[in-house]
Amino acid sequence: EYISVTNLASLLKVRVEDFVRKLEQLGFEEVQNDHILNAEHAGLVAQEYNFEPIVQADGTDGDLYPAPALSPEDYAELPQRPPVVTIMGHVDHGKTTILDYMRSTSVAAGEFGGITQHIGAFSVPLASGKKITFLDTPGHAAFETMRARGANVTDIVVLVVAADDSVMPQTVEAIKHAQSAQVPIIVAINKIDKPQADPERVKQDLARQGIEVEDFGGEVQTVNVSGKTGQGIPDLEEAITTLSEILDHRADPLSRVEGWVLEGTTKKSGKVATVLVRTGTLRQGDILVAGNTWTRVRSLHNEAGLVVKEVGPGMPVEVDGWREQPIAGDEALQAEDEQQAAQVTELRTEKIEREQMAKDMEAINEHRRLESERRAAEEAAAEAAKDGIAPVEKEAKQESGPELVSFIVKADVSGSAEAVVDSIASIGNAEVGTRILRHGVGAPSEFDVQHAADAQGHIVNFNTAVPSHVSALAEQKGVKILDSNIIYRVVENVKALLSEKLAPKI
Ligand code: GDP
Repeated sequence: EYISVTNLASLLKVRVEDFVRKLEQLGFEEVQNDHILNAEHAGLVAQEYNFEPIVQADGTDGDLYPAPALSPEDYAELPQRPPVVTIMGHVDHGKTTILDYMRSTSVAAGEFGGITQHIGAFSVPLASGKKITFLDTPGHAAFETMRARGANVTDIVVLVVAADDSVMPQTVEAIKHAQSAQVPIIVAINKIDKPQADPERVKQDLARQGIEVEDFGGEVQTVNVSGKTGQGIPDLEEAITTLSEILDHRADPLSRVEGWVLEGTTKKSGKVATVLVRTGTLRQGDILVAGNTWTRVRSLHNEAGLVVKEVGPGMPVEVDGWREQPIAGDEALQAEDEQQAAQVTELRTEKIEREQMAKDMEAINEHRRLESERRAAEEAAAEAAKDGIAPVEKEAKQESGPELVSFIVKADVSGSAEAVVDSIASIGNAEVGTRILRHGVGAPSEFDVQHAADAQGHIVNFNTAVPSHVSALAEQKGVKILDSNIIYRVVENVKALLSEKLAPKI
């Protein structure tokens, strides 16, 4: 039960350098990256990072993690990789037009006559032989969603400012997003073909926003372009590659594959997701884990819908064969084999369930606390009444809408759980309606029954087999398990149950 400093840092997702410093602060002396900690010390250190130390004998918790950062010397040995660029700017300033112009020169479309498709990103080849990868969902929301999930996907932001409109509210917002993510900016002054174009004014307005443009002695490059005529676009591409060289973007094409999920969707061929490879080379047959789903890659498709054999760092590719739909912003990591992938996803699902359960327990305890307070108050009032003290007038029961019947929804996959929730959430009328306590994947458990019973609610089970001990407990607790694998039957069952709640009208 020992673990090296490097491995533990990787498990805790901290940089080795920072981690070593932390160890020294904690009183460990002369720490080196290959320094070995025993289980006890490792556990104590992990707690410093708010981690529960459940370290297995092999020094891992059974989950997959990205490889630790390389030393600067090792990094400098790696080949360069294409930079990954996000386009941001005010609405109507020309983000889509510029992307479309560049996409029309994408490798796939040009060389093989494929039909360009939206897969979340595309790669543009340059005359120099270099490539640039553009995320093709412009806008701040996508950028922030990814960042909120911890995915630092973007190397460079191209800030599009229309030369006839200059800096606008969303321009300022984009600057803030880029700066808080510490992503360097290149400014594309667009619509330069228009007679009203005034690039000098744009530069002055940007300077006022704290963007130090080159012309005024700063470091931020500005390029005059027209997304409409294509004027200046090669200069923009050159500005991007120059900056990428300065920033020294490199990656190891031979390492285990790591990447980000840019988006996921369901096609005729099943569940697919665009993966932006960060390091390593992704090939057919490789096994990838993302969030709590995994795939043995059946085929790889580029942005032209064409099959590719392999994809290296900095390149986007559509990956099929996923068990469940991966989610944008998830990290995709290569597993050794299907068995490991299955174990890791199971472990992650359990982790999530454990967190969910902890939250549920909190809610239930709170509910119980309030119940017992209410009962105590009632008893006190009854005692007081016995002693001849007039009861405090009860607050009038508020007419606060329909009575709600609570449900826990359990389903075979998250997609169907959500569909069930959607279809029953709106059932009801002025007198009675539904309330969803929570929904989840998997067969109903004893815990679900307990939770439903506490809330005097019921369980909707969609397409899973209910274990017999769970149905027995449900029966005993008066919890109904509405069992079906057809949505409209679920709706009928729920309606029937609600109508039982309605007082007879005579
Ligand atoms: P977005 O909202 O930033 O994606 O902006 P769009 O790309 O949709 O462009 C908004 C409008 O500006 C469209 O009508 C475009 O045709 C027009 N437009 C975009 N770029 C240029 C340009 O370089 N020159 C001119 N004249 N019009 C442009």
